[in-house]
Amino acid sequence: MKAMTYEEARKLLGAVAQTVPDSLTCDNCFRLMSEYADAELLGRERPETLTAVRIHFSQCPCCAYEYVALLEAIRAAGDFDVITSPLA
Ligand SMILES: [Zn+2]
Repeated sequence: MKAMTYEEARKLLGAVAQTVPDSLTCDNCFRLMSEYADAELLGRERPETLTAVRIHFSQCPCCAYEYVALLEAIRAAGDFDVITSPLA
């Protein structure tokens, strides 16, 4: 096993320090995703809870991809009422 150079270790530690803790699981992210899309499409102020979703997207390419697909689907449908009350 190759020993890590000082420069490599410094870079690694720097990267860890800059990483914002991702408090969401993919399941939780998925549940909040439509609410997040809703806020985005309607130009609403995003609630504090949705900040976690944004953080998750930045660290989970899979969910970020799902979100883009969701936005496209909502825009294509052109019916924002559907997403303002997803549980109705
Ligand atoms: Zn995810």
